[in-house]
Amino acid sequence: MATCLWCQAVVKVPVTLRILLRWQVIVPPKLCTTCAQRLQPLHAPQCPQCGRQQATATVCPDCARWADEWHNQAIFPYDEAIKAYMQQYKFQGDYRLRLVMQPYLRRALAQIEYDVLVPIPITATTWQTRGFNQVTGWLTDQPFQSVLTVPPARKPRPQSSKTRRERLAMPQPFELVP
Ligand SMILES: [Zn+2]
Ligand SMILES: [Zn+2]
Repeated sequence: MATCLWCQAVVKVPVTLRILLRWQVIVPPKLCTTCAQRLQPLHAPQCPQCGRQQATATVCPDCARWADEWHNQAIFPYDEAIKAYMQQYKFQGDYRLRLVMQPYLRRALAQIEYDVLVPIPITATTWQTRGFNQVTGWLTDQPFQSVLTVPPARKPRPQSSKTRRERLAMPQPFELVP
């Protein structure tokens, strides 16, 4: 019997004749139908560059500000479902929830060209309290290079406790591993 990774409800595995005749291992879905529907994809109107969902289909203020320097790509709208997901995954430390995001991330990464995937590092203190890096948790099925580090002296306040404006104004808090 399979249970939903997100809400622990029992997930019914559909067994049809067609599935049986395929003669393959039956992989139960990771989420129940209710939880699977909570994650809604982005929809129009969106920023044409980063895909952020917004009121108009014009270039968003962040893309306009960073121009060619930096490019972001949205995968989900930052709605109640994603907030609840991040709360449970990152702050309550439900490491199994990494598996929920992996297929979406894999698909998004397959659509862009890059040389090397570099996850954002976490501080030693966060390692001690959380026990895992939420970003590398998402990448356990992808090749990546952990080449960034947080200098211990700098001890930045967690990004999530800052306002968006504060985050954007911050100096680069990471260093390249020698
Ligand atoms: Zn569920
Ligand atoms: Zn944008």
